[in-house]
Amino acid sequence: MAVPFVKDWDVVQTLGEGAYGEVRLLVNKKTQEAVAVKVVDMAKAKDCIENVKKEVCICKMLSHPNIVCFFGHRSEGTTQYIFLEYCSGRELFDRIEPDVGMPEKEAHRFFQQLIAGVEYLHSVGITHRDIKPENILLDDKDNLKISDFGLATIFRHLGRERALTRLCGTLPYVAPELMSRSAFHAQPADTWACGIVHTAMLAGELPWDQPSSHRAHPSLPVCFCSDDRAQISSSQPEPQGLWEEKEVKVHTDVSVSFSQPTCPDHMLLGSQLLGTPGASQNPWQRLVRRMTRFFTTVKAEPSCIALRDACIAMGHTWKQSCTDQATVSSMDCRNNKLIFIVHFLEMEERILVDFSRLDFSRFFLICV
Ligand code: ATP
Repeated sequence: MAVPFVKDWDVVQTLGEGAYGEVRLLVNKKTQEAVAVKVVDMAKAKDCIENVKKEVCICKMLSHPNIVCFFGHRSEGTTQYIFLEYCSGRELFDRIEPDVGMPEKEAHRFFQQLIAGVEYLHSVGITHRDIKPENILLDDKDNLKISDFGLATIFRHLGRERALTRLCGTLPYVAPELMSRSAFHAQPADTWACGIVHTAMLAGELPWDQPSSHRAHPSLPVCFCSDDRAQISSSQPEPQGLWEEKEVKVHTDVSVSFSQPTCPDHMLLGSQLLGTPGASQNPWQRLVRRMTRFFTTVKAEPSCIALRDACIAMGHTWKQSCTDQATVSSMDCRNNKLIFIVHFLEMEERILVDFSRLDFSRFFLICV
């Protein structure tokens, strides 16, 4: 996609890809000033126009040193251009070394900046709803900037707080109360996600795949159906004069398994039910998300050997950490180091092979 009306600017590179388009780097020919532009193709999905409108509206309200600065937006046909402060330090995610994290002092500084940004957001009645290292960027001075307000919403307006009901975010970062059927407060949910980011920064791994009210289990089944949603109701109405939250469309007859479903068509439904950013991804991306874990009847040891051979054949580095766990290192499409962990979990008669990493889906995207 070309970027029109920026004749004094060079489109230098693609910085990243999102659900509806790309983020590109623009550099001013005269001043060398750098700006990021998010190019969104509104024709890609039905809910896109509303979502982008909402994102722009929220970005306009924000001004804080720990939040990516919004410069403005323009539209051209079905394409929307959102101009943002360029964060040259990439994602916080890239700074977290798997199984190691980062130096405590660094993590502490990032955490303080994260909390400052989130505190500000809450003070103006906004909740981010998808705080995770991939949505946290760093600028050239290594200052943290909260990014991607695609799922953000207003939870307080004119001093009146409304409870939220929509389950959205990214499962490992989601607070346990979101998994229940009742309405929940926005602020603690964001704060919880900050706590998970803090853990990831210090330990280099996520504490669990998803929260549970009674215990943390790395591989609890994910199972939501439409009834879960239908019974949830807000304790307060949406602020008048603002936008309406979009309903997440859920098929009544589909529950989500946490492995690959037997019916291939269902592979494309999983993340839609969760209302994660992945819900709006293209079918391939959604398929990929479902392919990061699978069951096998082959015992753990031979499964491990087969996978090791396959990984080595593909040029990846394989390191067996213990009998039921291995580490695979590779490079992603941006030529960044990419490391993920493979767990072999014995579950009754079968073995669950689980490829979990802070961000494992990119790897699979390359492979397919
Ligand atoms: P998602 O599908 O996760 O909601 P999105 O369409 O909202 O994605 P972003 O997450 O905002 O898109 O951006 C995609 C990627 O582009 C980011 O992960 C990041 O690597 C890069 N990026 C986004 N904004 C900037 C920025 N201001 N400066 C530098 N890189 C950026």
